Amino acid sequence: MKNVTVLAGGIGGARFTRGLLAQLAVVAPEASVTVIVNTGDDMWLDGLRICPDLDTVMYTLGGGINEEQGWGRPDESRRVSAEIAAYGRGWSWFTLGDLDLATHIVRTDLLRAGSTLSEVTEFLCRRWQPGVRLLPMSDQPVETHVCLAENIDEHAAGDYIHFEEWWVRYRARVAVSGFQQRGLSDAVAAPGVLEAISAADLVVLPPSNPVVSIGTILAVPGVRDALRSTAARVVGVSPIIGGAAVRGMADACLATIDVETSALAVALHYGARSEGGVLDSWLVDETDAAALPPLAAAGIRSAAVPLWMTDLPATTAMAAAVLRLAADR
Ligand code: GDP
Ligand code: CA
Repeated sequence: MKNVTVLAGGIGGARFTRGLLAQLAVVAPEASVTVIVNTGDDMWLDGLRICPDLDTVMYTLGGGINEEQGWGRPDESRRVSAEIAAYGRGWSWFTLGDLDLATHIVRTDLLRAGSTLSEVTEFLCRRWQPGVRLLPMSDQPVETHVCLAENIDEHAAGDYIHFEEWWVRYRARVAVSGFQQRGLSDAVAAPGVLEAISAADLVVLPPSNPVVSIGTILAVPGVRDALRSTAARVVGVSPIIGGAAVRGMADACLATIDVETSALAVALHYGARSEGGVLDSWLVDETDAAALPPLAAAGIRSAAVPLWMTDLPATTAMAAAVLRLAADR
């Protein structure tokens, strides 16, 4: 096992990768890990380019994450955000801590000077040393917007708002009729992304949001084809346990695209590689063991193990189960 590639959103992808690195350090210390990160949640805010998922992965693997929040830095103040709010600017419901703001300032400065997001990410990682090669899915800006199905505050039904406004301001409790990934059709995969999939020995879809995190990466031109044709095994980990999104509101995203919130339905949504989908294997929680026979019937190998990422040992055990499933021929 030399090259492992992970397609990640924020917190689910980051935490799983932490366990994967711990497990690989024991069983395959020569392995190198590439993490391809969703950039569909990116946005401009207060004049700064914010990349929520890239930063969550970078901080988590680099030891700089606020563990309780799952985003931002520990022990940071909100004084700068409060000052921006005092001017009536910014998003009062989207707080940027002062330490985190430094990352956004440096990123924006480099982007303005002409660097690509890949180059900026590599630069930021020189400080954080996440122990993986961190790649944005694309260097072109892609932004997920949602179409509102009802009037809310200053927005009318039919309006599009940024995904983060729906997610953070409205906690995904406002009905939406669909997602639109702006910029995606003109985007190309960032340098190294398609190669990281085609040259991998193992590709992992961690327990990230299947719609707005992994779904967005899969929609980047070329990514799906690379997954279909790679010689690597593609193994996914269910983000759904016992019919519920473990943390966050992934169920609201799944409902919007008419996919049931269950480990089985998410796997069938990804589809078996043998049937034109992207999965060879799928790990479900032990409480979802009833999904194993229908998964087998759909051409997806599977196993049931505890999938709660409660601490590093639990997450490392999940990664070990992924490696076992990948080796199962
Ligand atoms: P985000 O970008 O920060 O929302 O993070 P991701 O897209 O990477 O992951 C969010 C998803 O992770 C949620 O929708 C949950 O379903 C899933 N998740 C979070 N914690 C756990 C866990 O402990 N176990 C499992 N199986 N899934 C989890
Ligand atoms: Ca995200």
